[in-house]
Amino acid sequence: LPQSQEDFDFFYFVVQWPGAYCDTNRSCCYPTSGKPAADFGIHGLWPNYNSSSWPSNCDPDSKFDRSQIEDLLSSMKKNWPTLSCPSNEGFKFWKHEWEKHGTCAESIEDLLSSMKNNWPTLSCPSNEGFKFWEHEWEKHGTCAESEMDQHEYFEIALKLKDKANLLQILANSGINPDDGFYDLKKITNAIKDGIGFAPGLQCNKDRKHNAQLYQIYICVDTSGTEFIECPVLPKGRCPSKLQFAKF
Ligand code: 5GP
Ligand code: 5GP
Ligand code: 5GP
Repeated sequence: LPQSQEDFDFFYFVVQWPGAYCDTNRSCCYPTSGKPAADFGIHGLWPNYNSSSWPSNCDPDSKFDRSQIEDLLSSMKKNWPTLSCPSNEGFKFWKHEWEKHGTCAESIEDLLSSMKNNWPTLSCPSNEGFKFWEHEWEKHGTCAESEMDQHEYFEIALKLKDKANLLQILANSGINPDDGFYDLKKITNAIKDGIGFAPGLQCNKDRKHNAQLYQIYICVDTSGTEFIECPVLPKGRCPSKLQFAKF
């Protein structure tokens, strides 16, 4: 059980633009299923603290188990393609993300209202219920696995990808992956209008040393379902004008 790490405060849902991942001096390899769609791909769903630090590798006993996500595989390949070399199906990337970040995803906070409705305490003296739940958790729950399971973890990331629809949001503001240069503010504002909250943007450098849009960070509540205002933005690495590379 992940006991050495405090409960996290929110998730960064991080997507990568394949055109920027591939157009660097390091280059890239397409997954065995072929060239991914010209769309943002998931990088990860990362538990984070408001202080901007984050927990990692919270449960060394929880190994990635591909049999748990069999029903998600076609969606994983489409929405969470790996671009690192050598070319592979993607399991290495997903295993890394689960073990480093996924094992840190616990989420009791957002169950609270449902807990109060469905698991009320009736013992005296009157209290909110935490005493009862704590008792049940310590006596029984600790014998089960406490973290979000792997299926749930990958599934909520896939749902967030659908929900954000970033490529369309950007296209609506005339921002397209056409090798053109765009204002950082314009990109930020388009996403803010589209999902309700400002994202964090990360750039990398292409082979000609142009700064290009590489990753978008969107903040999500600890249940993994609602976008939220970022408690803290990742350190920005984009200049005021950046390229949106073709892919
Ligand atoms: P980089 O230094 O390339 O931005 O990040 C390297 C790795 O550190 C990322 O792949 C990710 O696993 C982790 N990482 C970097 N920044 C953050 C962050 O702000 N929050 C979390 N949770 N992980 C991060
Ligand atoms: P993080 O940055 O979350 O620590 O992890 C990224 C790790 O996953 C690196 O070890 C990287 O080699 C591997 N990886 C595999 N496929 C990809 C990919 O498509 N994008 C990124 N950013 N990393 C990938
Ligand atoms: P168990 O039977 O799960 O070992 O323990 C139930 C414990 O939770 C008892 O010590 C009881 O005092 C406490 N408790 C708190 N609220 C409730 C309630 O609404 N129903 C029951 N059965 N026990 C409760």
